Amino acid sequence: MLKENQSMDTVVPIDISNPTAGERNDLTDKGINDKKWTANQDKSIRSGRTLKQTSEVGTMLWEAIAKGNEKFILPIASVCGADCVFCFNKYNPMDMDLASGFRDLDDIAQAIQLLGGDTPIHLGGESNGVVRQEGEPLLHPRIFDILGMIRNKHPYTLIHVMTNATQLTEKFVQKLLPFTPIAFQISYHSNSQHNWCKILGIRAKKFKIAQESFAILEKYRLNCQATIVAMPNLVGFDDIEGTIRYLRQYTEVINIYSPHYTDAANQQPEPEEFRHKMSYDPIEMSKFLKRMRVIYNTNIDWPLDPLKPINVGGYHSSFMPAGIMNTLHSKGQKHALWLFSEAAWIRGAGKVVMEAAPYFSNKHSVLCVKNRTYGGSITTAGLLMVDDYDKAIEEAFNEDPSLQHKVDCFVLPALPFNRFGQDMLGKNYSLLQDKYGISVSCAQQATSGDFTGETTSTHDQWKPVCEPSHMANINPTTTEYTVGDTAMATRKIS
Ligand code: SF4
Repeated sequence: MLKENQSMDTVVPIDISNPTAGERNDLTDKGINDKKWTANQDKSIRSGRTLKQTSEVGTMLWEAIAKGNEKFILPIASVCGADCVFCFNKYNPMDMDLASGFRDLDDIAQAIQLLGGDTPIHLGGESNGVVRQEGEPLLHPRIFDILGMIRNKHPYTLIHVMTNATQLTEKFVQKLLPFTPIAFQISYHSNSQHNWCKILGIRAKKFKIAQESFAILEKYRLNCQATIVAMPNLVGFDDIEGTIRYLRQYTEVINIYSPHYTDAANQQPEPEEFRHKMSYDPIEMSKFLKRMRVIYNTNIDWPLDPLKPINVGGYHSSFMPAGIMNTLHSKGQKHALWLFSEAAWIRGAGKVVMEAAPYFSNKHSVLCVKNRTYGGSITTAGLLMVDDYDKAIEEAFNEDPSLQHKVDCFVLPALPFNRFGQDMLGKNYSLLQDKYGISVSCAQQATSGDFTGETTSTHDQWKPVCEPSHMANINPTTTEYTVGDTAMATRKIS
């Protein structure tokens, strides 16, 4: 301690490297317990250095964690061996990183540790808000090792494989049996060899494998559903009917996705012809599928059916805005501007909000957001970007300047964003908040793609909602989850 009137210059420095008991007490009194520790901290504080990221995390792992999918989605490949005419991956404005091929086993082992095991584990298939999409999981050269690794961690959880079935020979299926319960979602776009090869760009030999896989799976009591990308302008409605007739023998549920194209279609050799093949008359398609349901007495689901009201109930159709209107009211939001994708708009989402509005004390306006990032005929919410929302808002406010002063909240679906609030281009929706001075409420969505009534700032969209369906070979302890994953016409079909 300095004595009264003693100058700093005359103070003899105290050596505190090996303090005596008395000195130790003295150091403690000065707020120092460990000289080296304190010195190191002081150095860091003085330098103002920020932490640099030094460890590497695989892109797929990072994206799954960022999106909140890591508990139930396990992508293992980014290649598929096919060359589908409608392939969304090929015409994506982002770098899909397809060159990465198959995922490394160490990386997969890490990802397996994150799987929850209380909901089906998905191999293959796409996920909204994630750039690097899954390829064909059954093509992975170590697929059986990977299945073994999953089973070591979760012996009973259903493994759900989305596949184009080109690997599913009887021998291959037999090798899968030790890893059951396994269920399949098979992308099967035509039961005509000629059209199947034309669509997938694969040899006829593979068509036979895919065609016969349904009977083989049935023989071994493995559950499957099918997906058709229905392209009437390419193969005709008769072909689609033939495919439905064939699949009906093996599956209770047929999912229909409609073809779409992005602005990248302009780079096609014959852009007009390509756009025509990837187009369809939505009303004609709706009526056709309605007839198919009756004729083949089967569950045919088309999430983008424009004639199916969005609040009719059931899958993709349970949009009821009351919950979210109440949530906004309880948060003190007086006038919300709801921003819908074109797909939701066509099915009447805006109308439903306006019909409900008079029964709530806060006010509501609605807006349809066009996807300008992808362009072409892309309409779904999962592919909208912050820039698309910004453009739509800007135009609406220019058209009606008074609206900007009335609105105190934007309501966006949580679907296109990851846990950090970023879209697939890395832009955060908080940019809208900063630009317009209006808060953003992201509405959580359920399996149906509909708002649950809750809003989120963390984008943990996945929540257990119901007991297991006890179907086929599903382990009865499995809990099904609602997911914020809206099936998209443009989604990747493995
Ligand atoms: S749609 Fe799927 S299976 Fe077809 S080429 Fe693209 S990624 Fe491959």
